[in-house]
Parts: sequence; C-alpha cells; structure tokens
Amino acid sequence: MIYCLLCGAKTRNIVPPLDNRVRAVCTQCDYIHYENPKNIVGIIASFNNRVLLCKRNTEPRKNYWTVPAGFMENEETLLEGAQREAFEEVGIKPQTSNLFMAYSVPHISQVHFYFHTKLKDDKTKIGEEINDVMFADHDEIPWNDLAFNSIRVLLKKFFEVGSDKASSSFFNYSSHD
Ligand SMILES: [Zn+2]
Repeated sequence: MIYCLLCGAKTRNIVPPLDNRVRAVCTQCDYIHYENPKNIVGIIASFNNRVLLCKRNTEPRKNYWTVPAGFMENEETLLEGAQREAFEEVGIKPQTSNLFMAYSVPHISQVHFYFHTKLKDDKTKIGEEINDVMFADHDEIPWNDLAFNSIRVLLKKFFEVGSDKASSSFFNYSSHD
C-alpha cells in the first residue's frame, strides 16, 4: 500500500502507537492500512457417499479439481458465502450444512472454511468458473489432479469419517500440519 486509500497521500511503513507490527500509515491523515487474512468459503457436498467435485475454469490451477469454494464477500456469513459459491459454481442449494473443516494457510494469509452437506439428488448446473463436475468415491477422486492441498486434506478426512459422521464432525487443520 503506497498511497492512502482515504486521501491519496503517500504512506510510510511504521509501527503505529499501541501496535507491535509494521503497517502502512498515511503521512497526511494518519489512516492505518491494516491487512488481515482473507476467508475462503466452500462446500463438500455428498450424494450416496460420493463427493461433488468441480474442475476449475480459471487460473490459478485451471483444469484441476476442487470443491465449490471462493472468497467470502462483505456482509455475508460463512454459510451464506459457501451457499452462494455452491450455487454459482455447481447450481446446488444445500439445505442443511455443518462446518466440517477450517484450514489455515498462514503463508498466504488465508483461512478456508468448508461446510458439509448431503444432497437429495445429483442434479448440478455448471457455472462460468467451472468446466466440469463429477461425483466421486474415494477411489474415483483424481488425487493427482487436485487444485490445492487443502482440498486433498478435506477429501481425505471426509472419506476417513464417512458422510454420516461428517455431519457431526469438525476438524481444524493448517498447511503446517
Ligand atoms: Zn490519508
């Protein structure tokens, strides 16, 4: 952050009073530009013990498999964000959902939240950011073509506990584990 978001003046990197980290602080209006982690919200949806995967149609990791997920927007809850992404990307409207996994990625300052939901049917609708969908059991998962390590951990854990127990399970992992 070189210029102030509020007044456009130059910022300087200093530790503000009562703080212990370097921040970009405006040289004119003293506005402090805090940078904090971003939330990714997504859904692991299952139907008959198979998981709904989608193939990314955008970079990064275009043409690799993931679950419906994306950046949380302002003024929505975690679950609302996950439901929105699920509808945009694969056309599903999960009815009941439970938070299944939180996954921190500190080196890029992200936290991922994945809800689990059991679908009543296998109807999907492919959104613009996706170019394919599939329902996969453990052996059908394209383990070598997953988009992110968080997805690998998520799927591994899901098949370990199974879709029934997944409805009452919560796991907290990070890229350090
Ligand atoms: Zn300013």
